Amino acid sequence: MKILVINAGSSSIKYQLFELAPFERVCCSGYVERIGEAIGQLVHRVIQKGGDREYTRELAVPDHQAGMALILDALTDREQGVIHNISEIEGVGHRVVHCGEAYSDAALINDAVFAAIQAHVPLAPLHNPPNLTGIEVARRLFREIPHVAVFDTAFHQTIPPHAYLYALPYDYYTTHRVRRYGFHGTSHKFITAEAAAYLDKPLAETCLISIHLGNGCSMAAVHDGCCVDTTMGMTPLEGLVMGTRCGDVDPALHAYLAEQTGQDIQQITNLMNKQSGLKGLCGTNDMRDIKERAATGDERANLALDVYCYRIKKYIGAYSAVLPDLDAIVFTAGVGQNVADVRARICAGMERIGIVLDESLNLQESHKARDIHAAYSPVKVLVIPTNEELQIARETQSVLQASA
Ligand code: ADP
Repeated sequence: MKILVINAGSSSIKYQLFELAPFERVCCSGYVERIGEAIGQLVHRVIQKGGDREYTRELAVPDHQAGMALILDALTDREQGVIHNISEIEGVGHRVVHCGEAYSDAALINDAVFAAIQAHVPLAPLHNPPNLTGIEVARRLFREIPHVAVFDTAFHQTIPPHAYLYALPYDYYTTHRVRRYGFHGTSHKFITAEAAAYLDKPLAETCLISIHLGNGCSMAAVHDGCCVDTTMGMTPLEGLVMGTRCGDVDPALHAYLAEQTGQDIQQITNLMNKQSGLKGLCGTNDMRDIKERAATGDERANLALDVYCYRIKKYIGAYSAVLPDLDAIVFTAGVGQNVADVRARICAGMERIGIVLDESLNLQESHKARDIHAAYSPVKVLVIPTNEELQIARETQSVLQASA
């Protein structure tokens, strides 16, 4: 039996079909993009032993319903498909960004769950609406199959009030739901389980700092397998310096910038989300370019990397103060997995808190989970590839098994 994973955005739908037993494997993956534009496209890749097969279709995809129908066609296509009938799919797992305090785990989608996701649209106005559309059209097309929502916020629901509350008047929390929620929870949860397995420790005894460095960046402090703090907040803007987001700034900045530049709140929020971070500091958010420029002595690229790495270093310090024990720090996602220079800058001079990198292990490239600390380092340093889709598939299956 197979699990289909769906990630619906405003103009795209990404998908992967998994088989989880007897061993975990991806059967096919793909995406439909430019939904609503004159010409859209479907890219469908069949994963197979003798070499993957990929095909592309360019055609108008007027809406998500049409996009989902294309995916269904691709899955069941006589020549390119990987299933004969949709009844081979045991469940559909949906990535859903925000469900606030309503769910601390994945949930079987019924009317109540759908309504709860709707109720969180004001907290995630860009993400929850397309996630809901994806669920709606998938439930229509993949009828008779159970659908499960896997929330980006769920893993962070164990964060205690002293870490999730802002020091605003308490009413703002109770009336307006203003608190820190955190995101990237699916990735941090996956990394925590993989790290515990790598360390050969029970999950419930594992303490670590998970460092997800993709376009969006966040860290999670994990105590005995449970998240106790994370860098993103009420929105994904808080915390680390990211590709285009500034992360932590003085909260008085909005007022100052409005006065000085005449921009309104929306424009300043946009500036902080889309024009800041690495891009704001050195003109690009692509770490491959930044790495090359820094290596040839480009000052701005080096400065951007320094600001980016310093923020991460500060949070490692904060989280090692918060955690009673620290087995490992774990790097993941595009930058965390691939950029040795970033890992080296972050770990430099951290011997006092027990983090000692092995320079040559750090330089070795690999797509597998690995450790890169010196043999005598009290805290282990791991690099573990994240796989949010696989985590969604696993959680979908466990919800289905629990509800069977
Ligand atoms: P997201 O899923 O948030 O879009 P990713 O996890 O794919 O992000 O990470 C994107 C970032 O990782 C980009 O800055 C990209 O340049 C960087 N990246 C990915 N692979 C490499 C690589 N091999 N070398 C350097 N940077 C990389």
